[in-house]
Amino acid sequence: RGGVAEPEIPFSKPGNLTKIYAIASGKGGVGKSTVTANLAAAMAADGLRVGVLDADVYGFSLPRMLGVELPPTRVDDMLLPPVAHDIKVISIGMFVPAGQPVVWRGPMLHRALQQFLTDVFWGDLDVLLLDLPPGTGDIAISVGQLLPTAEIIVVTTPQIAAAEVAERAGSVAMQTHQHVVGVIENMAWLEQPDGSRLELFGAGGGATVAANLSRITGGDVPLLAQVPLDVHLREAGDAGTPVVLTSPDSPAAVALRSVARTL
Ligand code: ADP
Repeated sequence: RGGVAEPEIPFSKPGNLTKIYAIASGKGGVGKSTVTANLAAAMAADGLRVGVLDADVYGFSLPRMLGVELPPTRVDDMLLPPVAHDIKVISIGMFVPAGQPVVWRGPMLHRALQQFLTDVFWGDLDVLLLDLPPGTGDIAISVGQLLPTAEIIVVTTPQIAAAEVAERAGSVAMQTHQHVVGVIENMAWLEQPDGSRLELFGAGGGATVAANLSRITGGDVPLLAQVPLDVHLREAGDAGTPVVLTSPDSPAAVALRSVARTL
């Protein structure tokens, strides 16, 4: 076809054994990055070789949540990702000047994602987790093209409005022919001192998204976990060490670790 050959993506070569999960949500602020950071930390603590690619252009927060302070280092033509809690981390935020808005169009996002997959020395990984931007934008399509074996995990809150957009994000997988592994409902409730559950954001969003995605995809899309609101989880994220490491017995950590072990 003439033109320059596209560089080969190691994760897309035949025989590649790395499991790839793209964490998606309909909107921002539902805890998608928190889920990504905790799944990665739980898997790395279990001895898996884990990489995280933060492709959330609008809200890149993984370097902070994982306590990554250093930028990648350049060795010849490759970038060596910084490592935190035994996780290799690359974030779009590492390449954007601090304080500047990110106004990238689809083709630039596609190119950035491609570079993160070809120019970063990931080494052999058991698992690569991708933190997608919220919504059903171009990058979901790019992931489908660049990483056709990536499987989708959808994060939502229990709220109906959030669930509706989450369902749309999940159904993009139909267009890209990707498998939806399941749904994680985050901020499911707040446990009260008397042990009762305050359902701050309502109830049922996760189960609804799972049922509707099962119907839309014609497969079995389970509700993988309900993660409660938990002040430890938020504090741990702000401090750069995920809650599965700082408070492993907290209900949120238990829920997230159990998902990590079923993947
Ligand atoms: P997203 O990636 O979907 O935009 P984040 O993971 O950045 O969302 O989460 C948004 C904020 O909510 C963060 O400050 C995070 O610490 C907090 N958060 C997420 N999940 C929980 C939870 N279950 N309990 C308490 N705080 C949470």
